Amino acid sequence: MKIKAAVFYEPHKPFVIETLELAPPGPGEVLVKVAAAGVCHSDWHLMTGATKHVTPVVPGHEGAGVVVAAGEGVARFKAGDHLCLSWAPSCGQCFYCLNDRPSLCATYVGPLWAGTMLDGTTRLSKNGQPVYHFSSLACFADYIVVPQECCVPVPKDVPLTVAALIGCAVTTGVGAALNTAKVKPGSSVAVFGAGGVGLSILMGAKLAGASRLIVVDRVQDKLDFAVAFGATDVLMAGPDVPAAIREMTGGRGADYVFEAIGLPSVQEQCLDCVRPGGLIVLAGISPMGSGTNFPGAVLARQEKTVTGTYYGSANPARDFPLFTELYQRGKLDLDRLVSRTYPLEQINEAYADMLAGTVARGVIVFD
Ligand SMILES: [Zn+2]
Ligand SMILES: [Zn+2]
Repeated sequence: MKIKAAVFYEPHKPFVIETLELAPPGPGEVLVKVAAAGVCHSDWHLMTGATKHVTPVVPGHEGAGVVVAAGEGVARFKAGDHLCLSWAPSCGQCFYCLNDRPSLCATYVGPLWAGTMLDGTTRLSKNGQPVYHFSSLACFADYIVVPQECCVPVPKDVPLTVAALIGCAVTTGVGAALNTAKVKPGSSVAVFGAGGVGLSILMGAKLAGASRLIVVDRVQDKLDFAVAFGATDVLMAGPDVPAAIREMTGGRGADYVFEAIGLPSVQEQCLDCVRPGGLIVLAGISPMGSGTNFPGAVLARQEKTVTGTYYGSANPARDFPLFTELYQRGKLDLDRLVSRTYPLEQINEAYADMLAGTVARGVIVFD
């Protein structure tokens, strides 16, 4: 079938809206009509060259939609089902899956980064040439074929814009606070970066009962968003931030510091903002090949711990329904997170708004 998609060809060139050919779902695959796709920084990393990927590729890895047809051997889903999509399909059989770390699944990491379905081939093409799928989803398109391993059902009364954000920002951020850091009640938390992931970390830390919620960003609009999401203190980014955070936390530094940008210089500043014995959680994706300098002398003497978090250490099949329920019960303000919607044709404008910091999360919506 013919579909409409935003295609990425090379860094620093705008996304191009094109008509592509989409093959029918193969065995174990599902054809989905996309309803909403979040405008996430991880797609933008293609544009800057920070993430390298085979091209042409259709980005978009934060999506939700409705099942149109199920391929051979798909028993769990049928036409009309609403889905929240995971960008990290897991096999359920490998070492990591068996140890409850499906976001580290070793089986599917190869095809995922090759930009193909799990069988190593693409369903997208243009003039007979393959077009690749970013993170096995390629949600910046009106129709997609995805592995059933990416599909998690979502109740029909949940807006699909909200479901889309559960597919990446919310799970990455709330999961970082609840699954990775296991934030304790009464603790102090500092979050660097108030985009979709940073605001979701903030929501997760608040849900966990943190009492001091400090958010740092370089854009005043985003600090205003942070206040609306429950930050107790906001700080403009700069060299004075560590001293300001220590002053707010009895001179010690925060119990938990989250970095949701992926900038080595900010990651290094986090070390001065966390208290001895505290935890730094790196949630932002740094450019491939970049390095961050954490002095071992400080880590050892002050027992500071640095950890990474990928997809919020989540199990999508378990955590998407949990975060959906928390939303339905008013515990996660995901309606507020969807701060602006755009048609696919305005995707370049949507990314410009993300970079300017004028949105909490922009979402591409389809008719
Ligand atoms: Zn994302
Ligand atoms: Zn696995």
